[in-house]
Amino acid sequence: MGLAVLPIHAYTSEILETVAKNAVCVLIGETGSGKTTQLSQMFHQAGYTKSGRIGVTQPRRVAAVSVARRVAFEMGVQVGEDVGYSIRFEDRTSSKTAIKYLTDGCLLRECLFDPELHQYSVIILDEAHERSLNTDILLGLLRRLVSKRKPELKVVITSATLDGEKMSDFFFKCPIVRVPGKLYPVQILYSKERPVSYLDGAVQTALDIHVSEPPGDILLFMTGQDEIEKAIAKLEEEVQSLDEGSCMDVVILPLLFQARVFGQPPDNCRRIIVATNIAETSLTVDGVVYVIDPGLVKQRQYNPASGMDSLAVVPISRVQAIQRAGRAGRTRPGRCYRLYPEAAYEHELLAATVPEIQRSSLAGTVLHLKSLELPDIDILDFDFLDQPSLELLEDALSQLYIVDAIDKSGSITALGKRMAELPLEPALARALIAAEELDCLGQALTVAAVLSCESIFYNAPRQGKEKKRAREHGSLPNGRGLGDHIQYLQIYDAWEKNNFDLEWCKENGLQIRAMKFARDVRRQLGQIMLRKKRDGEPEKRESRSLRKVGSARALRQALCKGFGNRLAHRLPHHNGYRCIGHKSQLVQIHPSACPLEVDEEGLLPEWVLYHELISTTHPFIRHVCMVEGSWVEPLLKKMDNMDIRGLRISSVIAVW
Ligand code: ADP
Ligand code: MG
Repeated sequence: MGLAVLPIHAYTSEILETVAKNAVCVLIGETGSGKTTQLSQMFHQAGYTKSGRIGVTQPRRVAAVSVARRVAFEMGVQVGEDVGYSIRFEDRTSSKTAIKYLTDGCLLRECLFDPELHQYSVIILDEAHERSLNTDILLGLLRRLVSKRKPELKVVITSATLDGEKMSDFFFKCPIVRVPGKLYPVQILYSKERPVSYLDGAVQTALDIHVSEPPGDILLFMTGQDEIEKAIAKLEEEVQSLDEGSCMDVVILPLLFQARVFGQPPDNCRRIIVATNIAETSLTVDGVVYVIDPGLVKQRQYNPASGMDSLAVVPISRVQAIQRAGRAGRTRPGRCYRLYPEAAYEHELLAATVPEIQRSSLAGTVLHLKSLELPDIDILDFDFLDQPSLELLEDALSQLYIVDAIDKSGSITALGKRMAELPLEPALARALIAAEELDCLGQALTVAAVLSCESIFYNAPRQGKEKKRAREHGSLPNGRGLGDHIQYLQIYDAWEKNNFDLEWCKENGLQIRAMKFARDVRRQLGQIMLRKKRDGEPEKRESRSLRKVGSARALRQALCKGFGNRLAHRLPHHNGYRCIGHKSQLVQIHPSACPLEVDEEGLLPEWVLYHELISTTHPFIRHVCMVEGSWVEPLLKKMDNMDIRGLRISSVIAVW
């Protein structure tokens, strides 16, 4: 199969020359111009892989896997050999791997074990315009590294949007190469007002286009998995009832099964592709002529004052709106239907998306930076493209202090260093280490692994009531009234007793893929824990300790050590809870939680820990487990005595 010539190919010599002469360069090119799939091959052919690998980061796991497959296909090799990928808990690379696609989080972890990233001769920070938290940290780290590893290391920062100046300024005014996309004009059509339901509005628009417009695929932007499924169900239903109208066939596809989306559609058939934000810049689908943009995106937002994460549907930025519209003009002139008025575009949308570093909990990030112990250079130089707020930083420091990762002067502890080495958030990392001491590591590994999955239950937790019913009356164990974590453990153990039988999962309403993933994660975490164990205790004794069955009590106690920042106290005579610490948020236990033991008065346990505090219709805590007052007490004391200024003076100022 001949491969298409892409816009980037015309710039090969300019790109190679610029990279040869400069340690860093910024490359800006329209989505689809070939940045992600071609640059790596270009450097490979130019001989850069003789002295190291080419690493290409992606903010999303799906994208890392899918582009690695594509590039392997283009080069006619197997994934995992010359071209591979590495994402958390899954490494498909070998000693032969010359081109490696990896998530930005993975590259960040590699910095821990090899701060100078010696395996790479070229690092491409791809999709930098997305400004993911990890990419932002990498930008800061690479900024130092390029001068250190000059001239062997080359860094290329790619972006689909136009603000290259800011990036170039950040990298000492490095050159910018622009690859003009061959974009056809896209006509923008605005709605007079926002539809009552954006999902219905989008579905209706798609149907209108289908029956009245000439051939061309339709790309519809939804905000999440759930909405994609709903939109597809609705479209399928409505298309069935279209007896006349379009003479064309239609296939409706979610942008998940990439192979199908990338393949050619049958003749005289229109594809309606329903995608999340991933189709905005990281994956390109050819043949799209009509874009439907409801103007919304699901965005995680962390509020340091309440400690609450909300996954809210919010308006996109103007940059995103432009990107989305651009998807319609790749093969010929197209149209973009914005389901909002022009005035909203002008006055309500932010010019650019708020970078993740300004809306995330930074505990993991700060711990990571501290564990790097950035030496020699004046650490005050460590600056970011955009600074996170002091509030977010203080919140991160206090979280780290409570879990013993930093001491009261803000310096990283030995424990903190071990925590940073685990590919888990600080709370779970701390719980695993505590579990080791309390002799229930095997159980804690199971719980951590299950919590690393989206959901092991077949019904998504959002369909709370139904799931609750399934979990209460089904044949699954019930957590003995102690909470979700214990139930996860019981379920996993029961699966193990059934020889990890997949049919068993199906019969019990468990997601096979999630369960297999949990098993895999558990194995990997176990290996890391054993390897990391200090003082070289004999390996044999260690692996026996993994199998040892401790009490669920010890497990809950270990979890309590890790989740000191996420404890909730029941209100007097009331089954509502109040989160402790400076965030005295009132919350309820999420309806999907497995039932907790109640006393004679029908009251829930006095103390619980939770994995997630999330605001949907109400502030809810999810993944909840009962703990005891006596375990909580020392944590409360620690919180009371915390001096945030002390933490800050010797650490923020030092590190940031
Ligand atoms: P960019 O990173 O600049 O957005 P890409 O390198 O991702 O561009 O894509 C370049 C071209 O390769 C696009 O035209 C796209 O359609 C095509 N392409 C990318 N991935 C695949 C795939 N898995 N199958 C078929 N074509 C693909
Ligand atoms: Mg790309």
